[in-house]
Amino acid sequence: MSIEGQIKKTIKEYELIKKQDRLIVALSGGKDSTSILYLLKKLGYDVNALMINLNFGEWSKLNLINMENFCKSINVNLDVINLNEVCRIEEIVEKSHLTKCTVCGVVKKWALNKWAKKLRADKIVTGHNLDDECQTIIMNFLKGNIYLGINSTPLTGVSNANFVQRIKPLFFTPEDEIKKYAEKMHFPVVYERCPYASKSYRIETREWLKDFSDNQKLKIVKNYQKIIPELRKRSKDEIINCEICGEASKNKICRACSFLNCSKIMTTQKK
Ligand code: SF4
Ligand code: ZN
Repeated sequence: MSIEGQIKKTIKEYELIKKQDRLIVALSGGKDSTSILYLLKKLGYDVNALMINLNFGEWSKLNLINMENFCKSINVNLDVINLNEVCRIEEIVEKSHLTKCTVCGVVKKWALNKWAKKLRADKIVTGHNLDDECQTIIMNFLKGNIYLGINSTPLTGVSNANFVQRIKPLFFTPEDEIKKYAEKMHFPVVYERCPYASKSYRIETREWLKDFSDNQKLKIVKNYQKIIPELRKRSKDEIINCEICGEASKNKICRACSFLNCSKIMTTQKK
């Protein structure tokens, strides 16, 4: 089945999009988010793009220029969040001793939700693919906490007025198929990973899974989907609003605000 056929099937099966939905595609400059932006636009959905400029040197600059040109070429509006205006990742890493990926991941998610609300989005679309999802399931399993993955579904289960639901139309599409598609379409994307990716736990897990076939990865992901309803029932997590920034959170203070020194900067963002 073509990638377009696969995403149509996933959208239909999981009821990811309503006709009137305003979609915000979280663009990274990579093949996955670029492909899904292109395909959703082609299928006639109301799409806008939102990109976070991580300010990781030349890699970020190139991603930004590429996406500005690409969005213009397909007539999609692009909004850019300059992360330096929100917080300094390096500073938080230095003071908290957390890894760059941990800080970056939490802050990106936080900023995306906040900006998507400002842009009146009904759904945030991400480019997560089959390989990403399979890695997440294994990572959570190795961490000894499979509850961490209860939102590893094509449509996030959380429903809170403060939280924009996320959808992943490429959820069951293998990464190598997307790469081939992006190359065939000559999308102006950066294939090199983020300069900090090599040190991440995800990359270790990716290496671990490299000999698994797409079919085996699909089995892992599909079987995990079967146990999610039960995990959700048993999960004790309740979603409340962060006392500092007002965003959806599992705790009184969300993780983004709890990062050392960052909370002060982030409070100024509160609207
Ligand atoms: Fe952020 Fe790079 Fe880590 Fe991804 S790999 S979470 S972009 S630091
Ligand atoms: Zn907060």
